[in-house]
Amino acid sequence: MTLLDPSTIILMSALMGGAMSVVLFAADRSFPAEIRGLGHWAVGLLLLIAAAVLFNLRGVLPPALALLSANSMLLWGLGLSMVGTERFYHRPPSWRAFHLVWGLGMSAIACWLLVWPDFQARVAVFSFLVFGFYARQVQLIWRYGERHFSTRFFGALMLFQTLAVLLRGCLALFGSATSVDLMRGGPFASFYLATANFMVLLLAVGFMTVATRRLQSILELRSTLDPLTCVLNRRGFADIYGKERAQLRRAARGMTLLSIDLDFFKQINDQYGHAMGDRVLVHVAATVGKTLRESDHMARFGGEEFVVLLPDTGVERAIGAAERIRVALRGPHPEGMPAYTVSIGVACQQSAAEDLDGLLMRADAALYRAKANGRDRIEVAEPASPPASMLHAIRA
Ligand code: GH3
Ligand code: MG
Ligand code: MG
Repeated sequence: MTLLDPSTIILMSALMGGAMSVVLFAADRSFPAEIRGLGHWAVGLLLLIAAAVLFNLRGVLPPALALLSANSMLLWGLGLSMVGTERFYHRPPSWRAFHLVWGLGMSAIACWLLVWPDFQARVAVFSFLVFGFYARQVQLIWRYGERHFSTRFFGALMLFQTLAVLLRGCLALFGSATSVDLMRGGPFASFYLATANFMVLLLAVGFMTVATRRLQSILELRSTLDPLTCVLNRRGFADIYGKERAQLRRAARGMTLLSIDLDFFKQINDQYGHAMGDRVLVHVAATVGKTLRESDHMARFGGEEFVVLLPDTGVERAIGAAERIRVALRGPHPEGMPAYTVSIGVACQQSAAEDLDGLLMRADAALYRAKANGRDRIEVAEPASPPASMLHAIRA
């Protein structure tokens, strides 16, 4: 059986790392800007490849030069992946620690390579410095990682790698040179060589997994929000309404929906332009939002129509809330913004038998009455008529 020699393993994993770095670069260019750190990871992987190539050029370049430059690339690349993970979790990058570690590491390695050649001391110092880079990432994943499979996968890989380099550092300090010399290969050295190289690829896969998960969460959130006003859109509102309706039996007071429509909004657009119309819509969303409780929900249903859902709120309190909204929107408005008013339809839902369409229809009917009765006012919808099956049950 032919075994692969260590140099081949290092080169092969460098090639795999290269492929992964292309994936990370592509993700960096196409993912939303909120997903940070992908570029740092991609460059970090490229530096690891450069390190592997330099390491294998020991025969061509002067060995000390090859070793020094390979180690410098390795430290640099691993440090960049730490900065990438910090940026991913929206933490300030620790560039100072990164430069300090790199400077310290390179001086120590140069000392123990050129002045007092000591292989074990070099391995120990290198392992402990790299341990710092990995341990910081374990800490970040532990503290800021979302509770999800992707985080556990990335975290477990990172922890494994952290412990592996710690063990290598300890073996270099207290064990024999052959136990840590990757080229001559004691049992731990062979194990370390195989795992460390495979881990380069696996860790990048782990990082890509958490980044993809973040992408999914961002896209899901975006699909439920109105891009102009950043309140819920119809889809997001329907989801929330479904959850509130499921809890309706526990809320003695029922819940109330407000249907809010700007009065003569077309005139604002015609007179002041569409951009001013948009500014007014953003102002409506912000102003209404300020009058609501944490548990209330607001959505924009296209155009200049907004709805507000007040859970556990009966009709009396809902009229009070609608009045506060109406008054708040009457002004004073920000400078340069035209005056505007709103009409509001109020519909209360007492039983889970009614669905969103029915509730909206009643609230809209009340809203049209408010428009017909002169605008800038509130009208309350008739209570829902119980479904035929229920009437049957009541009569029987
Ligand atoms: P009413 O008091 O009867 O509600 O009168 P109105 O003019 O507000 O009603 P109408 O529904 O006729 O006009 C709605 C206008 O809203 C028409 C459309 O140009 C405008 N509009 C819809 N979506 C947007 C948007 O995203 N931005 C802006 N600026 N205007 C929009
Ligand atoms: Mg209108
Ligand atoms: Mg309208």
